[in-house]
Amino acid sequence: MPSEKIPFNRPCFGGNEYLYMGQALERLHISGDGYFSKQTQALLEREIGAAKALLTTSCTDALEMSALLLNIGEGDEVIVPSFTFVSTANAYALRGARIRFADIRPDTLNMDENHVAQLINKRTRAIVPVHYAGVGCNMDALTALANRNGIVMVEDNAHGLFGTYRGQNLGTLGNMATQSFHETKNFSCGEGGALLLNDPLLVERAEILREKGTNRSQFFRGQVDKYTWVDLGSSFLPSDLLAACLFAQLERRETIQNTRRTIWETYSRELRGWAERHGIGLPIIPAECHQAYHMFYLLMPTLEDRQAFITHTKERGILCVFHYLPLNASPMGEKQGASKGDCPVTEVMSDLLVRLPFFNNMTLAEMERVVEAVLSFQPTGRPHPLLEARQHLAAV
Ligand SMILES: *Cc1c(COP(=O)(O)O)cnc(C)c1O
Repeated sequence: MPSEKIPFNRPCFGGNEYLYMGQALERLHISGDGYFSKQTQALLEREIGAAKALLTTSCTDALEMSALLLNIGEGDEVIVPSFTFVSTANAYALRGARIRFADIRPDTLNMDENHVAQLINKRTRAIVPVHYAGVGCNMDALTALANRNGIVMVEDNAHGLFGTYRGQNLGTLGNMATQSFHETKNFSCGEGGALLLNDPLLVERAEILREKGTNRSQFFRGQVDKYTWVDLGSSFLPSDLLAACLFAQLERRETIQNTRRTIWETYSRELRGWAERHGIGLPIIPAECHQAYHMFYLLMPTLEDRQAFITHTKERGILCVFHYLPLNASPMGEKQGASKGDCPVTEVMSDLLVRLPFFNNMTLAEMERVVEAVLSFQPTGRPHPLLEARQHLAAV
C-alpha cells in the first residue's frame, strides 16, 4: 500500500501569485519599493496597525536592521530566548553585543519573564521576545520590565502574524517587530521579511538604513532636493517580484488562516485523548492569546520516545521534525559566556518536542493519515516531571 509521502511543509500558491508576478514584470520595475512592495506594506500597516512596515529580504535582515537602528554595540547586552532560531541572537551579536539567554516557560514555551528579570542589568539594551508557535508571550510582564528599566522591546514575530494578545496584534506590542516570509512560515515568498515600526520617531532613520545609508526615500517624496550618504546602512529591499508573490498570499489571509485553524483544531481534537493517556504534552494557549496557527507540536514523555516517534511516522511516509536546539548550550552560545544548564526548561523541552506536518493546502485525507499514524504510536517512557508541572500551570 505505497501512498504519497506527507512532507512536513509544502509550499502552496493558491491565489494570484502567477498573475501578480507577471504584472510586476510588465511594470518594468522589479527592484525594491515598486508597486507590489507598496501595496504589501500598506496592507501590513492597515491590518496590523503598525506606524510603518518596511519589507526586507528576510526576518534575519529585519532583525539586523533593528540592531543598527538601536545603535547596538560593544558593551551592550540583549536578552533573547534560548529556544529560538539563531537569527534572533546573531543579529545583535554581529554588532558586538553580548547575548543573554532567557529560559522558557513550560506551558507556552515562550520566554520566561522571571528569568528575564534576573538577566537585566545596566548594560541591557533590548529584550527580544519570540511568540513561539504564534502564541503571545506574557507581554504584560515583559512590557512592565522593559518600561521600568528603560529597555527597548523588539518582537521577533516570525511565527505570530495575525495572532493577538489581549486583543492587540502581535507585532504591535514592542517598539518594533520583525516578520518572516520564509517558505516555512504561514505566508511566504520563498525568502522575505518585514520590519514593523510602532514608534513613528524610528521611521525616518529606518528608511535611511534600508536605503544603504542614503536619504533616497526623502528625495523621492520631494523632502530634499538631492540624496546623499547620511548614515550607516545596507541593502535590505526585496525585489518587487517577491513582493508580488507575497501580496497574493496576504490577500488570501483569511482563507489561509482558516485552513491552518482547521488543521490545528483537527489535531487537537483527535489527539487529545491519546495524549492524556500517555502523558504527552499538547500546546497550551492562554486565555489572553489568540494564536496565529503557525504549528502543532507534541511533547513526548522522553527523548527516546521522541526519536522513536519520528521513526514510527517516517515508516508510514510522514515527516515529523524536531525544532530548535538550546542556544545557551551551542558553541556560539558558550562563546557568549553561556553554558549548558543555564536554561533547564529549554534543554528538556527541546529534547521532547516534535512538530506535525502543517501546510496551507493540507487535505482532510492527509490530516487523517497523520492522526492515524500518531494514534498507533505507544510511548514507553515515564513522562518527564516538567510535563506534569506544565499541566498544573494550564489548569490555573
Ligand atoms: C524563521 C525565523 C526567523 C528567520 O526568518 P528568515 O526570514 O528565514 O530570516 C527568525 N526568527 C524566528 C523565530 C523564526 O522562526
